[in-house]
Amino acid sequence: MNIVLFGYPNSGKGSLSQKLIECSFVHISTGDLLREEVKTNGNYAHIIKYALDNGKFVDDLVVFDILKKHLELIPNNTNLLFDGIPRTIKQCITLENIINIDFAFELVCPKNIIFDRAKNRLVCDKCKRTTSKLVENDFCSVCGGKLVSRLDDNIDLLTNRILDYESKIEPIRNYYISKGIYHRVDASVSVDFTLKQVKGVLNYGNN
Ligand SMILES: [Zn+2]
Repeated sequence: MNIVLFGYPNSGKGSLSQKLIECSFVHISTGDLLREEVKTNGNYAHIIKYALDNGKFVDDLVVFDILKKHLELIPNNTNLLFDGIPRTIKQCITLENIINIDFAFELVCPKNIIFDRAKNRLVCDKCKRTTSKLVENDFCSVCGGKLVSRLDDNIDLLTNRILDYESKIEPIRNYYISKGIYHRVDASVSVDFTLKQVKGVLNYGNN
């Protein structure tokens, strides 16, 4: 079973992904794959490094070639969770040509809640775990690292990321609606509530 997730920044995609990994999904992050290619000095390392250094997107041909090779290493019946793609309608189609996508979930959350989460969000500078000022302060309860406010929680930047999301999501949403695999889930309450809805769709049982 293969799924894609999308949603506003701060809608809880990261936390939901973590929960799905615990439910046997393998996380496929194109960002991680590109960074790994640079780190291991692969064939595309210089192209990727140039794009990243200049704030550009890496060409789809490169992204999908690396993705394809990575997928070949994964056993056939693995449950996959895609992160970072698709960002465009073209990528939706290319991805579909490589692998079958069974479900597309959009995490829906009112904007005022997204801004409140941003104001309260903290990240551990050691284990990178995300938490909230509503839960803990100063030091990470897991590893003891320092908890810091995230730079991209800057409100102007968040506003821009929301506008960017809204400007790009419509065709992607329509693509998956036309495939009959699009599902909206309410991400305004908690990650467990979001997960419960996703599991309901995936028919994973009742917990
Ligand atoms: Zn930590």
